[in-house]
Amino acid sequence: SNDGSVTAESVPSLMKHMPLCMNHLMKGVMTEHHLKYSGRQQLSLFLKGIGLNAEEAMRFWQMQFTAGPGSMSIERFNKDYKYTFRHNYGLEGGRINYKPWDCRTILSKPKPSKSEFHGCPYRDMHRDQLANELHKMGLDSGSRMDDVLDLSDRGEYQTACTKVFELTHKDRIDAMLKNGETVDETSIIHPNLYYSRSVYLEGK
Ligand code: SF4
Repeated sequence: SNDGSVTAESVPSLMKHMPLCMNHLMKGVMTEHHLKYSGRQQLSLFLKGIGLNAEEAMRFWQMQFTAGPGSMSIERFNKDYKYTFRHNYGLEGGRINYKPWDCRTILSKPKPSKSEFHGCPYRDMHRDQLANELHKMGLDSGSRMDDVLDLSDRGEYQTACTKVFELTHKDRIDAMLKNGETVDETSIIHPNLYYSRSVYLEGK
């Protein structure tokens, strides 16, 4: 949706609806007060897709990049970073309306280095780190978590992500099925699809 209801301040509260790749980027920017190029692109276009308008986006990124001890000044943000975020909204340069990246695009980019947060965690995290993240998302260790980890090991990242969505939204999905409602069970192929499906289920 692009109804303008997403504000710079409300973005963190929406993390519960975001897939692991975007959760990881959000945690990255909130702890580092910075993201490198690919991370900025992946997260800012996603946020644009969930309805963060240009004005709120500038406020969000400035808040994140200039908050906390040791972070950059507002002057530095305006001088070195504001342009790239405005560019993603088509407000600078070629004025192209860039689209949020789908999983295929995310997976086609170079893998993140140690200080980077972009990419797909089902591909890029070590099994232990991934298990830890899944635990934080509410999955208990056991056969269902092992299923997700095995899918990731086999390179079936989107199937792993879809499985995590189903496990973390199980109660609502079950309630809908019980009511005879149709549940979209197609594979997650886009982070914004994961998000909108989660928001939709919350309203159920
Ligand atoms: Fe993100 Fe797609 Fe990977 Fe899920 S499968 S974590 S939506 S890139």
